[in-house]
Amino acid sequence: MSRFSISMASYAFIAFTLLMYIGCKSITPQTQLDCNEKEDIFYCADTMCAKIYHGHIDTIYQQMPPDMYYDMEQTITFPVLFKVHDQPSNAREINIKDVERAIEILNYAYKPAAIQFDLLGIEHISNGKSLQQITENSYAAYPEFSRKYDDDKAITIHLLDDNGEYCEEVNNIVSCRRVHGFTYILNYQYPNIVLSKPDLLNEKVLPHEMGHFFGLYHTHRSVEGKESIMREDCETFGDHICSTPADPGPLYGVYVDYTRCEMIGYTDENGYEYKPMINNYMSYYYPCYRKAFAFTEEQYIVMRTAALSGIRNYLILEAKDN
Ligand SMILES: [Zn+2]
Repeated sequence: MSRFSISMASYAFIAFTLLMYIGCKSITPQTQLDCNEKEDIFYCADTMCAKIYHGHIDTIYQQMPPDMYYDMEQTITFPVLFKVHDQPSNAREINIKDVERAIEILNYAYKPAAIQFDLLGIEHISNGKSLQQITENSYAAYPEFSRKYDDDKAITIHLLDDNGEYCEEVNNIVSCRRVHGFTYILNYQYPNIVLSKPDLLNEKVLPHEMGHFFGLYHTHRSVEGKESIMREDCETFGDHICSTPADPGPLYGVYVDYTRCEMIGYTDENGYEYKPMINNYMSYYYPCYRKAFAFTEEQYIVMRTAALSGIRNYLILEAKDN
C-alpha cells in the first residue's frame, strides 16, 4: 500500500500518532523496558538523560543534613570546557557569543544553589562524530569517545552535529524521536555532558543535563515505583525528592493548561488530582507561557551536596565567600 492510498481510518491513526508524539515532545517513555543493562549501568532510551548509576543518589541523600540546611556561605565555581565536534561536511558553526550565552543560562539557573560555571575555553575537533553516531547501538561508541575527549580538570560539554532526521515512517505510521543531549547521573567516570548543537541555547536542556550531572532524577521517574500524589513515599519513589509533586510524566501533558502552568483533571485511582511542577527543569513538559523554569529548594540541596561531594568536588575551580 502506498502512502497515498491509505484509508481514512489509517489517516486518523497517523494523525493521532503524530499528535501524541508532538504532545509528548517526541519522548519515549522512561521505563525499565527502554533500558539495557551493560557494565552495571543502565542505558536508558531517554531523550535527555541516558544512564543511571544506581546507588549514587542514596549516597548523596545520606550526606544531606537532616534539617535540609546547607552551607551557602561560599559560591563554588566549576570550569567548563566546550568541545565542538565538527563533521567533515555540513558542520553547524558554533559562535562564541552563543557559548557565552549558554554559560549565562546555566549561571542564572544555578545561582540559588551558589553554584556557578566559568568558561575555560572552546576547542574544535574536526572529523567529529554526530549525535546519532554516539547514541546508536545503545551508545556503543560513547565510552571510547568519552575517554578520548573528556578533560580531567573541567566539566566537558561536547557539542555534536545532529543530522536533523527525527522522524521515520514504518508501515504507514510516522514516529518521531529526538535526542537533545545526555549525561550520567552523578557518575565520576564520565564528567561530561553531550549536547546537540541546535540545543545549545535551549534554556531548559543544558540546565536539565547539569541537574543530572549533579544528581537529580526526572520528576516523573518511576524506576523504584510511582510516587503517590499524597507523597507519603516521596523519599523512595519517583524522583526521591519530596518538594517536587508527584508527576505522572509527559504522556499526560495533554492535561496541562500551559497558560496557567497547571495540570487539570488527571486523577489517580483514588481520585486525587495530579499537580506536577510543570515548569521544573527536571520535568519533560513544555515551557509555560508566563512561569519561568525553576528547581525546588530541595533540588538545590541535592545539587549543592553533590557538588561538594567527592564525586564532583575535585573539579571545583574556586570557592568564594558570599
Ligand atoms: Zn533528563
